[in-house]
Amino acid sequence: MLIGAGIGGLTCALALQRAGIPAQVFEQAPELGEVGAGLTLSPNGSMGIIGLGLEDELAKAADPPSYQAVHHYKTGRVLVRRERGDLPQQEYGAPYYQIHRADLHEMLARAVLANDPECIHLNHEFERFTQDAGEARAWFRNGRSAAGRVLVGCDGVKSLVRSQLRESEPPEFTGYVAWRGLAPAAKVPPEAMDPPSGIYIGPGHLFVRYLIRGGETINYVAFARRDDWLTESWSQHSEVSEVLDEFGEFHSLAQSIISATPPELCYKWGLFSRRPLESWSMGRVSLLGDAAHPTLPFMGQGAVMAIEDGIVLARCLGASAGVAEALRRYEAARVERTTLVMVNSAEIIHRFFAPDTDRFADRNDRNEESLGLFSYNPWSVPI
Ligand SMILES: Cc1cc2nc3c(=O)[nH]c(=O)nc-3n(C[C@H](O)[C@H](O)[C@H](O)COP(=O)(O)OP(=O)(O)OC[C@H]3O[C@@H](n4cnc5c(N)ncnc54)[C@H](O)[C@@H]3O)c2cc1C
Repeated sequence: MLIGAGIGGLTCALALQRAGIPAQVFEQAPELGEVGAGLTLSPNGSMGIIGLGLEDELAKAADPPSYQAVHHYKTGRVLVRRERGDLPQQEYGAPYYQIHRADLHEMLARAVLANDPECIHLNHEFERFTQDAGEARAWFRNGRSAAGRVLVGCDGVKSLVRSQLRESEPPEFTGYVAWRGLAPAAKVPPEAMDPPSGIYIGPGHLFVRYLIRGGETINYVAFARRDDWLTESWSQHSEVSEVLDEFGEFHSLAQSIISATPPELCYKWGLFSRRPLESWSMGRVSLLGDAAHPTLPFMGQGAVMAIEDGIVLARCLGASAGVAEALRRYEAARVERTTLVMVNSAEIIHRFFAPDTDRFADRNDRNEESLGLFSYNPWSVPI
């Protein structure tokens, strides 16, 4: 039983199905969907999705940037250039992609439902679990319950499965806010998207932008520090003018992208986190993705870690004699790596946000590629 039909839950369901293990996914939402935003799929993530049999669909839906640049926020000067194009395939065995989250989510859901049209149960908001020697049982707010051999919380950073399993403190606001927007590429000067993927860094601010959907749409995320987050909700609609004010000192090409955002496609998110855990499982219950290790988005690895988790967990369940052994092997394979990514994702932002922007290249020695994250293959890593 998987609680949550996000990218992690659906990846795990599909990997289980492909291993001949039936899966059931319970999702609180009344319909399947994803936020309107882009996602970077580094080679370790694409490797996972390709191994699920989705290579052609992924290649059709995703964009491989030819190269990426880190720009100075004011002058636009290129501080660091990273070659992409065919190189990641040659070096790591899979492409570096950028994709609309909804396209990846839909691709996974379609494949899961093609294997088993009854696999995903919508309108099932998880409330609590019980377990005994024979089964784990999930109880839902709609009054129903369901039982299975294993229960895995794939229910994101606000995970209720985690709250019951390990701690009662709620996730904490990290002090970072992200504005996410989608803008039509036709509405910005072509030089604003050269290279097709890039970031502008400046003191206390970071602007990430890349092309998705075959170059039609620009996805951007603009990060800044905020002292508090005053609303109950974690995401809310934002005025485009608010982003322009916050990034008023940024290069005119970055501002041209923000200005091109249709008002209804601009959102603001508070970034929340929880402390790293040394262990994620108890009896027949475990965690996956953001529920296990909420990861700040500054290395673009959160969803990729959820994909890796889902595949490794399915392999462990397929290769073990019992649930206890499977969850032990799953944690042994995943806790150290995901903690490393959590810690470094929280740390890298200080280098992006530092006041001496001009010297960024001198301190860019620890990033997602130099940490060796891209060469991980979730299908063959020892379990
Ligand atoms: C601004 C921003 C940019 C990002 N960019 C990137 C990027 O470029 N690359 C990358 O790899 N990652 C990125 N991430 C991180 C990524 O979005 C997350 O790490 C990823 O979505 C985690 O997937 P998940 O499946 O674990 O959880 P989620 O995507 O949060 O899915 C959880 C699912 O569980 C459901 N659920 C929740 N509670 C319940 C309940 N009680 N009962 C039933 N269902 C429930 C939810 O409705 C949802 O469907 C970014 C994040 C942010 C905020």
